[in-house]
Amino acid sequence: MDIVQHYIGGKLTSGTSTRTANVYQPADGSVARQVVLGNATDVDTAVKAAEAAFPKWAATPPLARARVMFRFRDLIEQKAKEIAAIITSEHGKVLSDALGEVTRGMEVVEFATGVPELLKGDFTEQVGRDIDAYSMRQPLGVCAGITPFNFPAMVPLWMLPTAIACGNCFILKPSERDPSTSLFIADLLKQAGLPDGVFGVVHGDKEVVDAILDHPGIHAVSFVGSTPIAEYIYTTGTRNGKRVQALGGAKNHAIIMPDCDLDKTVDALMGAAYGSAGERCMAISVAVAVGGIGDKLVETMAPRVRALKIGPGTDNSNEMGPLVTKIHLDKVSGYIDAGESEGAKLVVDGRGLKLQGYEDGYFIGGTLFDDVTPEMKIYKEEIFGPVLAVVRADTFDEALDLVNKHEFGNGTAIFTRDGDSARTFASRVQAGMIGINVPIPVPMAFHSFGGWKRSLFGDHHMHGPEGIRFFTRYKAVTARWPTGIRSGAEFIMPTLG
Ligand code: NAD
Repeated sequence: MDIVQHYIGGKLTSGTSTRTANVYQPADGSVARQVVLGNATDVDTAVKAAEAAFPKWAATPPLARARVMFRFRDLIEQKAKEIAAIITSEHGKVLSDALGEVTRGMEVVEFATGVPELLKGDFTEQVGRDIDAYSMRQPLGVCAGITPFNFPAMVPLWMLPTAIACGNCFILKPSERDPSTSLFIADLLKQAGLPDGVFGVVHGDKEVVDAILDHPGIHAVSFVGSTPIAEYIYTTGTRNGKRVQALGGAKNHAIIMPDCDLDKTVDALMGAAYGSAGERCMAISVAVAVGGIGDKLVETMAPRVRALKIGPGTDNSNEMGPLVTKIHLDKVSGYIDAGESEGAKLVVDGRGLKLQGYEDGYFIGGTLFDDVTPEMKIYKEEIFGPVLAVVRADTFDEALDLVNKHEFGNGTAIFTRDGDSARTFASRVQAGMIGINVPIPVPMAFHSFGGWKRSLFGDHHMHGPEGIRFFTRYKAVTARWPTGIRSGAEFIMPTLG
């Protein structure tokens, strides 16, 4: 049985722990390999390797760091299909979708190639008589990333290119459910010329996460995952004096206005609710039908949800693969049970789907609920599966209020032909990422990604300009060079005069 190992100081190692976890192939339920679950000693070894590499890497000119990123970017492009195949085998998503996540991750590497420009500080000549002032952004030291299962390539790539290009060293703790992509990335970074120790991977579960949060040598933690864990990471990490950005869960609403283009809106909702089997933090899981469009919306969607093509992710003609694990399949099915018993109208029921030849796979069909109300569990909680809840609202204000009162505020979208509704929505809605006739408004790499409310703990969104700020510290320098004859010590507060 293959064992997925840590990557420390440029080498694969099993570390010191004897614990392992199974890594499954979601399409057939078989155990593909095992992953080592590290401990505090392994984290410490990785930090020491990173600390040893840091001074030289931080002193490497940004242009030279950028050139590593250029080579890394080209290698990702060349190997994109191989990376996608690894993702599909452990996560389950359809290959074309896995390829999409590789591209979105590569775009952050492309952004990071601009680091010489991005790190440029400001300069003011003559802030006082014969005094100049300038500012710079410097790396933090050793940083860590803790990532979720649903984007094993893209989410680590939201963090590590920016962190490394800014001159930091970076230790990744990937999801133990799909750990192999991280080692492929490590190998590409090495081939790109990244010095050993600058990037490390320590696999594991809570034990490794706690060791990261407790380690005094780690200065910043970037997290993406569910809200309870995000909150825990933020409170523990900041209490220990670290800089933390912790992105959490979501319940993304789409507001469907009566004047929308219904066919295009349904196309958008199908992809946004059921793509990647709903295991996306930017998936649309609630459709708020405004002013009587609900019947038509549900009528149009139901046959399309029933007709979803579901099967193993290796077949690109499938629209949806399996869920990631049996535990997650049971959890999603449990939510459908709950919705039914709470009185929501189950229009399409995806439970109990069995595919010939894949009877042990973690498949579930697309599910559509109508008449969902805000008190229901299926409205309040994140399901993270292919389940769309339709809620009815009489007016735009009522729909907006629903979004604004929800615990989560990751992304949201409005479907309308009316500029006034769209503009008012974008201005008043309490969420971090807004789509106007765009169902999954994931910002491009040169903007930043992040939610509001309990979808993000911390002050910075991820990648883009916010990523540069997160992974650097600001320093302001005020400088005077003696000119002519020195006039002796000055004891008064310097002023312009
Ligand atoms: P998760 O919270 O279970 O795990 C995320 C990471 O935390 C993993 O590396 C895991 O090993 C670690 N972890 C799990 N339990 C822990 C514990 N008790 N203590 C310390 N560490 C722990 O999330 P997941 O199931 O892997 O991913 C799905 C979740 O991630 C969803 O809630 C989804 O919305 C969210 N997500 C959010 C975004 C975003 O940008 N906001 C993006 C992707 C996924």
